[in-house]
Amino acid sequence: MEFKLWEPKTQPDILGKEGSFGNIEWDYPTFIENIYEPLRKKYPDYITRRSIGRDTSGEYEMWAYEFTPEKYVKTVYMQSGVHVIETDAYFGLARLLTMIANREDERLNFIRDNVRLLVVPVVSVWGISKRGSYEEIMDDDRWRFPHNAARVNGNRDCETKEAQETVNVLNYIAENQNEICYAFDCHSTTDVVLGSYLLCLSNGTPEEILNAHVKINEELYEKHPTKVFRANMGDQNHYTNQTKPGIYNRSYVGGITWQFGIFAITTEHNDYIYDTKLGTSVTMTLSVELLGNHLLLVCENDCYNSSLRIDRSYYQQYMN
Ligand SMILES: [Zn+2]
Repeated sequence: MEFKLWEPKTQPDILGKEGSFGNIEWDYPTFIENIYEPLRKKYPDYITRRSIGRDTSGEYEMWAYEFTPEKYVKTVYMQSGVHVIETDAYFGLARLLTMIANREDERLNFIRDNVRLLVVPVVSVWGISKRGSYEEIMDDDRWRFPHNAARVNGNRDCETKEAQETVNVLNYIAENQNEICYAFDCHSTTDVVLGSYLLCLSNGTPEEILNAHVKINEELYEKHPTKVFRANMGDQNHYTNQTKPGIYNRSYVGGITWQFGIFAITTEHNDYIYDTKLGTSVTMTLSVELLGNHLLLVCENDCYNSSLRIDRSYYQQYMN
């Protein structure tokens, strides 16, 4: 599969300063009002939104944004914010979509003109709103996120298939399952032991597709050699295919594939430095670069289309 690596321009930070793309500390309504809503109002013929239901707490309306060109050849599903600490992932997705909508990069215009994008900007909407300040995130207790009244941990429990957030998302995908050819779940990490650019692809992904995604990660790794050390956890450096359905590990990838046969990928970037500072121009650029390249691969290649389906019988052993 032919693919030339895409190089995004340097991205703005999300540190709430003059010239920033946003503020890492925004809660969900503020994030939506300040980033997605202005974009939708700017391009009402291209971008629409709809509610997919309320979250577990009942406090927040969950939104899906749909980017629909006049004519399109394929539909791609994208989501982020399953893990609330991973600000750069959901801001990175928003930034990439902004670039596409604004026609800021010539190569992205193919997506603007030919690919419909169905986007859930944040899954753990309660979690990103209640997780506390940036300083609290980065202190030693950063994984101790509060639980809402329904005992849902905003950072981790939204991965389970029982969580209302998951139910809403899967119902939304179900409505569009015949059109969606590929699903993205966008993450980021500050933990270098997780590898350079982590990919999780659905079990049963054909060799050619697997290799195309892995090649992108290898090229990105060569472009950004680590200043610390190259994490070595076998093939987790590049991808894992550990996903098992039903338990929603690696956040939804298994579930989407298991239920719908849709190819799914988790992209997760870092800058190879343990406990790195979140939300900088460097990490935002890495986020946009990783996600943008994998999205372009899916959009630019004809082999990715809605008839591309994983054989769900592979997963029968896990279904009960
Ligand atoms: Zn994550």
